[in-house]
Amino acid sequence: MSTNNTKKLAGKVAVVTGASKGIGAAIAEHLAAEGASVVVNYASSKAGAEKIVSGINARGGKAIAVQADVARKADIERLFAETKKAFGQLDVLVNNAGIYEFLPLEQITAEHFHKQFDLNVLGLILATQEAIKQFASLSSVINISSVVSTSPAPGGSVYSATKAAVDAVTKSLAKELGARKIRVNSINPGMIETDGFRASGFAESDLRKQVEAQTPLGRIGQPQDVATVATFLASADSGWITGETFHVSGGFR
Ligand code: NAP
Repeated sequence: MSTNNTKKLAGKVAVVTGASKGIGAAIAEHLAAEGASVVVNYASSKAGAEKIVSGINARGGKAIAVQADVARKADIERLFAETKKAFGQLDVLVNNAGIYEFLPLEQITAEHFHKQFDLNVLGLILATQEAIKQFASLSSVINISSVVSTSPAPGGSVYSATKAAVDAVTKSLAKELGARKIRVNSINPGMIETDGFRASGFAESDLRKQVEAQTPLGRIGQPQDVATVATFLASADSGWITGETFHVSGGFR
């Protein structure tokens, strides 16, 4: 961690969607540790979000929790209005909120499709649309994609498709927003030990064992493995990087 004088995100404001737990919570904590004021968004886990906020504030950082369902346009608009009211500016958006549901082809329904696409893709686009209204030059968008965008697992066709879409959106928006000096990159994590991961039953699964066996670094990831890369992409250290997809996966392909 940097000292007060050298904090890489001092004076910056970041919104992290889906930051009440898991990868988003770790990203919010790391950005705050580097001096950013952070908006910790959540959908329903108020207590989880408040715990992350009070931890950040107790360590001398600045954070607020804002409830908003990122699959709903009106909620997204309110999230960014509350950000403006609290901090008056915006420099970093981390589009992390996402859901992953796995079903064999025979069981896929329109509901399964829309639930994941409405949050993972449409919500990400609408959040970015709102963010750029407030962005100053030299701002950064970080989209949390997944290794499944390029290495899909069986039963994950819809989820994998949402993340392939995220990669395409990342590259398209990087070209579209480059002239405004807004950078857009994605992080494509491998399997990460989070609440969602445990709730989906992956902790003791054969899939976990297969992934570990195929991972050169021999383990699945922790949320902080992703958070350190997000902090780099939020900061000026990555100032000449845009339109990239960073596989953070211990070498898993
Ligand atoms: P997680 O532990 O399930 O946490 C999900 C977070 O997203 C929670 O804070 C949750 O808030 C929030 N969220 C869910 N629906 C939302 C909505 N409609 N609006 C706003 N926030 C919402 O998930 P995770 O494992 O950390 O995954 C986070 C991201 O990383 C996702 O985009 C996921 O696809 C991606 N990813 C995960 C892995 C992995 O192995 N874990 C690997 C690659 C990529 P509430 O609790 O309030 O609902």
